[in-house]
Amino acid sequence: GALLSAEGLDKTYGRTPALAGVRFSIRAGEVVAVMGPSGSGKSTLLHCLAGIVRPDAGTVRYDGRELTALSDSARSALRRQDFGFVFQFGQLVPELSCLENVALPLRLNGERRKAAEAKARGWLERLEVEDVAGHRPGEVSGGQGQRVAVARALVTAPRVVFADEPTGALDSLNGERVMTLLTDAARETSAAVVLVTHEARVAAYSDREVVVRDGRIRDLAGVA
Ligand code: ADP
Ligand code: ADP
Repeated sequence: GALLSAEGLDKTYGRTPALAGVRFSIRAGEVVAVMGPSGSGKSTLLHCLAGIVRPDAGTVRYDGRELTALSDSARSALRRQDFGFVFQFGQLVPELSCLENVALPLRLNGERRKAAEAKARGWLERLEVEDVAGHRPGEVSGGQGQRVAVARALVTAPRVVFADEPTGALDSLNGERVMTLLTDAARETSAAVVLVTHEARVAAYSDREVVVRDGRIRDLAGVA
């Protein structure tokens, strides 16, 4: 069955409809690419699924719970514990070292520094960027920074990873490396990955593609 699913999602910003009657579902361990042109509603869908944006209508269900019915604080607690996020850029804290950045989500969940940093170091190794552990984000390359961001998204052992154009700021070689490391790690841990991208070569790392156009979804497998 589905780990995360949505039914009848509507979202309008002012008079701009961003989503209209969207249905979506993803199973544990599945990587689903959400494709479509700029402005079609991909990010809005990701934000609704992650409980960051509340849809005007419709429901989001995660692991038997109705996300859309939870209080804001319950939703943010669930997000911190069960979800990981990778965005295009700018998500690392510039004042912290790369190691501290990766340890941060664990620290926010109440883990002690030593344990958190040991786990963080393990993920930096897994992402092949242990060399930059002591560097600040401003001192590393775009590709290294994005691998650090992937390590940070995975360090809490999330059950769902939300990635919004995770390779958008990288050249194709670094992009491929990041996608390989992200999807291999996610498959190993049975995390579901919601991957927003407009690039076919990034979507190629998914198990399944859905296309959003003018706020409506078209499932290439014909499921929706
Ligand atoms: P995509 O991720 O496919 O580029 P978005 O979900 O970002 O699309 O946007 C869908 C539509 O909703 C666009 O017309 C966009 O301008 C609009 N939109 C998205 N977020 C907001 C917002 N916070 N306020 C107003 N309009 C928004
Ligand atoms: P993307 O590249 O994924 O489409 P955007 O650059 O369109 O993202 O949007 C970045 C952020 O700005 C998102 O949080 C989105 O919700 C918000 N946003 C997008 N369009 C608008 C808009 N027309 N007015 C206000 N906020 C917007």
